[in-house]
Amino acid sequence: MSRKVNIWPRPKAFDYNVAVIGGGAAGLVAAYTAVVARARVALIEEREMGGDCLNTGCVPSKALIRSAKLAHEGARASDFGLNGRLEPDFAAVMATVRERLAKIAPHDSAERYRGLGVDVIKGRARVIAPWTVEVGDRRLTSRRIVIATGAEPILVAIPGLAEVEPLTSETLWGLNKRPERLLVIGGGAVGCELAQAFQRLGSRVILVENAARLIALEDEEVCAALRAALVGDGVEVIDGASVASFSRASEGGRARLADGREIAFDRVLVAVGRRPRTSGFGLEELGLIENGRLVVDDRLRTRIPSIYAAGDVIDRLQFTHAAGRYGASATINALLSPFRPAKATLPAFPMVVYTDPEIARVGLNEQEAHEHGVAYEVTRYDLADLDRAILDGDDRGFIKVLTAPGKDRILGASIVGARAGDMLAEFTLAMRHGLGLKAIFGTIHPYPGWTDAARATAAEWRRSRAPLWALRLSERLFAWLRA
Ligand SMILES: Cc1cc2nc3c(=O)[nH]c(=O)nc-3n(C[C@H](O)[C@H](O)[C@H](O)COP(=O)(O)OP(=O)(O)OC[C@H]3O[C@@H](n4cnc5c(N)ncnc54)[C@H](O)[C@@H]3O)c2cc1C
Repeated sequence: MSRKVNIWPRPKAFDYNVAVIGGGAAGLVAAYTAVVARARVALIEEREMGGDCLNTGCVPSKALIRSAKLAHEGARASDFGLNGRLEPDFAAVMATVRERLAKIAPHDSAERYRGLGVDVIKGRARVIAPWTVEVGDRRLTSRRIVIATGAEPILVAIPGLAEVEPLTSETLWGLNKRPERLLVIGGGAVGCELAQAFQRLGSRVILVENAARLIALEDEEVCAALRAALVGDGVEVIDGASVASFSRASEGGRARLADGREIAFDRVLVAVGRRPRTSGFGLEELGLIENGRLVVDDRLRTRIPSIYAAGDVIDRLQFTHAAGRYGASATINALLSPFRPAKATLPAFPMVVYTDPEIARVGLNEQEAHEHGVAYEVTRYDLADLDRAILDGDDRGFIKVLTAPGKDRILGASIVGARAGDMLAEFTLAMRHGLGLKAIFGTIHPYPGWTDAARATAAEWRRSRAPLWALRLSERLFAWLRA
């Protein structure tokens, strides 16, 4: 799939070994990997360092979710023998979100990376040749280039949308006044997390999802548990519906659904996915884009052998930990090429939706096992039986582990629960290193901890597979010993 590059003159010498475009999760890890290997590296960022995760994604959303959770717990304080409740002050909540962000920002700052030896350049990069990047009036040459320009929110083409001034995950964080009626379009991870957070902070939220289910990639019972949790919090969930048009109203706007229903709102948040940022900085001109996508092979190399790509821009798994991992792989392959390019894989990749309860998964779920024709057995453990969940007053959810038939080898684990993301780590480690449920069962877990749920699940697997003949034999033996 490589393009001929001899139409561009190759520089005799290069300013850098690697030039990384984009200072988000992928670009930061790419630059860090290069500088640790003592390569000379440039990192070019046009906006704030830290990219989506720090400025408009994981970090602010999780800070908002924390305040929302506390407000929710305050609203059920009497369940814990406490009087009163915690009233959200929206402007103060948003100020806290910004404070938390500012505290994390130094981890990703230009100063930190300059201190590590990275040449951080502020400005918009344009790739003008396989080894040349232009930033303002400066031209730099590099033996390899890594594109890590991320993704941006998709604004669906619905008539009237622009008139109602939609919010996106990029613009939301500037709000200081709580929208009393918030319409959220999109029931993926971002839509569900933010819908719940705003509802808990006092907005009246309506969530509209096109598909028949929220977070449709998960098993039906997982989606159902999430839906029940959102509805339980007061979010009105309208799934299997699409918005046909928007119009402005005296206050806010109105959405008309395809089935004729109308929804009035103060603000609308569009969270229908994020599109790779691939245009306007030279990639089309170099022939790297096909059908609107940046084409990379399984080594993260584009059609031009000196240019690699990583992170959300390659449109695979849009997560910070995927971006980081791909960023490292892209740099290693770029630095070592043409020798030893390695496939960029994400073995035992954990995914968490930070709603309450959290939704977490590693490996296959039942839906995917069916799709791929993979045979499996299921072991389930209900968190209503977990002492710690009962003590914390939050015993909703379950763990479901898929194993290879007749074996303890883990094919995947899905968890719904208050601490599902943390509980997932043990199953991820087990899968990554080929440990089965017997190993988890044979490991002592602290009591009363959330992680004990993993041991209890493994115990459930063991119990349901205990050989009946041996149990019968031991029953007879003990009866004989008593006689
Ligand atoms: C609301 C929300 C919540 C999220 N929560 C989570 C979560 O909990 N966990 C998780 O794993 N993921 C989460 N994500 C996803 C995560 O934020 C992204 O997957 C991750 O940030 C992608 O990193 P990246 O480096 O590929 O791209 P980005 O972080 O977008 O970085 C790309 C950078 O490139 C810069 N850039 C673009 N073009 C140019 C150019 N021509 N010149 C110079 N610079 C340029 C941009 O300014 C940007 O800073 C969330 C996303 C959102 C929106």
